[in-house]
Amino acid sequence: MSTFQDLGLNDDLLQAITDLGFTKPSEVQEKAIPILLESETDLVALAQTGTGKTAAFGFPMLEKIDVSSRTTQGLILSPTRELCLQITNEMKLYGKYCKGLNVVAVYGGSSITDQAREIKRGAQIIVATPGRMKDMINRRLVDISKIQYSVLDEADEMLNMGFKEDITDILSHTPDDKNTWLFSATMPREVATIAKKFMHSPQEITVGNKNESTSNVSHEYYLVNSRDRYQALKRLADANPDIFSVVFCRTKRDTQKVAENLIEDGYNAGALHGDLSQNQRDLVMKSFRNNQIQMLVATDVAARGIDVDDITHVINYQLPDEIETYTHRSGRTGRAGKTGVSMVIVSKSEVRKIKSIERIIKREFEKKEIPDGADICEVQLMSLANKIHNTEVNHEIDKHLTSINELFADTDKDELIKKFFSVEFTRFYNYYQKSKNLNVAEGSRDREGGRDFSKNSNSTRYFINVGSKDGFDWMKLKDFLKEVLELGRDDVFKVEVKDSFSFFNTENETKEKVLAFFTDFKHEGRFVNVEVSENRGGGGRRNDRRGGGGRRDDKRSGGKRDDKKGGYGNRSDRRRSEGGSKPRRSDSDNGAVSRPRRSRR
Ligand code: AMP
Repeated sequence: MSTFQDLGLNDDLLQAITDLGFTKPSEVQEKAIPILLESETDLVALAQTGTGKTAAFGFPMLEKIDVSSRTTQGLILSPTRELCLQITNEMKLYGKYCKGLNVVAVYGGSSITDQAREIKRGAQIIVATPGRMKDMINRRLVDISKIQYSVLDEADEMLNMGFKEDITDILSHTPDDKNTWLFSATMPREVATIAKKFMHSPQEITVGNKNESTSNVSHEYYLVNSRDRYQALKRLADANPDIFSVVFCRTKRDTQKVAENLIEDGYNAGALHGDLSQNQRDLVMKSFRNNQIQMLVATDVAARGIDVDDITHVINYQLPDEIETYTHRSGRTGRAGKTGVSMVIVSKSEVRKIKSIERIIKREFEKKEIPDGADICEVQLMSLANKIHNTEVNHEIDKHLTSINELFADTDKDELIKKFFSVEFTRFYNYYQKSKNLNVAEGSRDREGGRDFSKNSNSTRYFINVGSKDGFDWMKLKDFLKEVLELGRDDVFKVEVKDSFSFFNTENETKEKVLAFFTDFKHEGRFVNVEVSENRGGGGRRNDRRGGGGRRDDKRSGGKRDDKKGGYGNRSDRRRSEGGSKPRRSDSDNGAVSRPRRSRR
């Protein structure tokens, strides 16, 4: 492993590198810098974002240009305004000891005259987006006829964004004998064509394999029903309390909707897409950079300029249309030597795309399960415990300590801890108490449209001693059960009504609640008896031992009746389950239990 000194950089640059705290060159720097310093050559470098490629072309360019001259000698083209500003900023940091250096950013959405004035002062290096650069050339506000070095950064992205003509036009105003350095994460045919057209026998370097994802990123997928996608997203966020993520959606509409739903559900989220004004996008990005937003929901195009290094997770809420785009998405995490996770939420109909992506990125995905409510509650509890453990004591509390101590004089330590944690934890617990399993087995039938009645393994079948004689049909009985048990739309199913008795199913998790509720419940003056049935719900006959009767078993209830449960729909802790159809705004957590808001820092 070489050092920056070994690469042959001058003292001004080495000093800046020391100031920046870079201790050793990254792979792309190690490979590109010696080539670019030692020879006047064209270069094609295949490297992901976040691998240190700005410095890989930036250091040699800064070393080679003449800062005593005011002529523009270097031109760096980048796909987005954000990247353009990021590169400009990095170049200024790298060149801070290069006396007389002037690096100017040229991009749309900002005053063209101000940019022209900056250039006129003498810009040795211009960093530009293609659209604005072409505009400036047409208006003769810039002279690039003497440049010696041109960089096409994120060439694949520029071509994806339709800049091919602009790039061709811009390069036609530059000298033939300049050197062109092309950096790209992937090598689609269009990039190879550009390389062939504008470059002379370029040297090639590859960091990792073509299109390959960096080894710092692990790839996971989660198989759920389409209708559970949003719930799955929330679970993934809740299972990672310190998540700092980009959530990718396919369309602007979905992006906006998912972000709005997340915000309403108490998450620190924001939307980034092309229908927002530049000003709105800047504000969202600012909040994201400051960690005020934990979940940035974005379209592929809008996310191109995201230059944030410490993203912990990329979540593919939907897979991109072009699977090659996955490389760019996952490249938003695992930057600058950090590790990251790229998660994909897929439905049965899309799962085959995972294999195609694996082939492209040359990495394997791990199939993982959406965590269940108990897992999430544990993670949240331990995260809270750690936060409390690491919290600095605020001594303003000291003066109130006597009163607080008096209040808790009879509470022992364990009890106090439990009470203290319950303040926060109970909300998560209540929310996830009845959460269902969102995972779909790989070989199973896709059940986008509704509950899969063919599978009984997770559900319990009950016998109930009311039937059509009591005025119930299956719909009325389902509504009745949902109401008294305070369950969600799909939580009671397979309702079968007979004359004087009926059957119904719930998920296994609800069993205790159902049985406890019906120990002493009266309907129209008569005790209602519910028992677990041996009938698995295949339309079979009821177990006759339980037939007829309609009388409650007094032994089981002990003859007592809790008045609170006497009627139905009168319980104060009314809540619905996490499940059900698409989450509604007014029903954000599908219940009256609001999810705790969190801030990352
Ligand atoms: P880039 O791929 O150029 O966008 O760089 C990603 C991040 O890595 C930037 O924040 C750089 O400042 C940082 N970086 C670049 N080179 C190094 C290095 N050799 N050591 C540590 N960080 C670096």
